Amino acid sequence: MNTETRDVFERAAAHSIAFREAIPDRKVPQSADIGEMVRRFRKPLSDKGSPAINVIDDLAAKAADGLNGMCAPSFYGYVLGGSHPVGVAADMMVSAWGQNAASALETPAIAALERTVCDWVIDLLGLPENSGAGLVTGASVANMVGIMAARNGLLSRQDWDVEARGLFGAPEVPVLIGEDAHSAVHAALRYAGFGSERVTYVATDAEGRMDLAAFMVALDACQAPPLVVLQAGQINSGAFDTFEQLVPAVHAQGGWVHVDGAFGLWLAAVPELADRLAGVQQADSWAVDLHKWLNAPFDAGMIVCKDRAPLVRSMSARGSYLPDLQEQWEPSDSTPELSRRARGVPSYAILRHLGKSGVREMVIRHCNFARQVSDRLKRIDGITVLNTVASNQVALAFGEGKEGDVQTQNVLREVQRRGFTYPSHGTWLGRQIVRVSIINYATTQDDVDLLCEEISGAWKKIMNV
Ligand SMILES: *Cc1c(COP(=O)(O)O)cnc(C)c1O
Repeated sequence: MNTETRDVFERAAAHSIAFREAIPDRKVPQSADIGEMVRRFRKPLSDKGSPAINVIDDLAAKAADGLNGMCAPSFYGYVLGGSHPVGVAADMMVSAWGQNAASALETPAIAALERTVCDWVIDLLGLPENSGAGLVTGASVANMVGIMAARNGLLSRQDWDVEARGLFGAPEVPVLIGEDAHSAVHAALRYAGFGSERVTYVATDAEGRMDLAAFMVALDACQAPPLVVLQAGQINSGAFDTFEQLVPAVHAQGGWVHVDGAFGLWLAAVPELADRLAGVQQADSWAVDLHKWLNAPFDAGMIVCKDRAPLVRSMSARGSYLPDLQEQWEPSDSTPELSRRARGVPSYAILRHLGKSGVREMVIRHCNFARQVSDRLKRIDGITVLNTVASNQVALAFGEGKEGDVQTQNVLREVQRRGFTYPSHGTWLGRQIVRVSIINYATTQDDVDLLCEEISGAWKKIMNV
């Protein structure tokens, strides 16, 4: 290796360390906007190249104020993991190794590591032991893959080989989803050819869970085995569908249950919390993120499918025929990609580092913090918690009615402007909300104290008291 190459690797590592070291001292949000970033970066590509080290230095310098502290323990926006350092370190090696993770033939180390991640996650979540599994970019793709596997499985029950014959002229497959399903599920159904308008939306309760009576009516109306998408962890309320009641009813009709468990499925790893999603293991497929609660660096998610055959039939790039399932596990048989980075390796490192107890401790800590934030803030006049905290999400509304919506947005703006903590926005039960997601591996009691002070302080400021 020449000196220039060694220097550029070391420089990238140094910039990475400096960025993470500065996290406690910086504000969470970025300070430069997209206009400024475009001005800096979006220049004509010069004819002449630049020395590698200059490119890396320039990148670090110019991007710095356009980066959000998403990996900070005070980031509570959306539902995002914090890129755990041991995962980031492993990810650096993934890039350096330059392995194409498509096949076990030439990259046995990667195939074995990723297979192990699948086994460990399946075991931690209590999913069926011999499930098929694939590592994808996140829950959006995992939902899409699960729905495509379901499409294969359900149409084959109606003697239709969708991989060979396509969807034109295929028998109908009824699709039931809750009115509060994540937008990624809607998108996944579109990608899989189910369309958004021929889906039946089932009414939900105040926590976003499917209403049992409405569900039974919709299920009874199905003329063929249906695809039902349930949720483990509603994005605003963190709530869980009542799997114990719903899943057996779907199976009695020969249907397929896919679970969007992007973040919430991780509660299944914790014996003390698992009863909140009792029966989830009876489903047929599950989408779960690794870059959310496991805090893997972006991007990493997983599809798990109880019956491996429909997963492989719908995904394998070898063709629509069924590959010999007895042979070596091929990573690309269960995912849409052929060539891809070894995105499972960082999760291997994080799981090894935390162990089962570390994962459980983290999930419990976050759920306890969420409960605490809710208990503390709802005692304050004018602050309403709109959800019963079932996991790590807290939906906060301020004031009342239309005026309250404006006040809620002002509270969020003020908290984000101060920049010490960073919750995000949303709408829930017809109201604007400030949404708090507690999911970063490093979040401590001090961070949660600060969060409560920042939010209550902003509310007092808005109210002029
Ligand atoms: C985040 C999320 C998704 C989408 O996952 P990505 O990892 O962003 O692709 C889907 N469903 C739920 C419930 C989520 O929280």
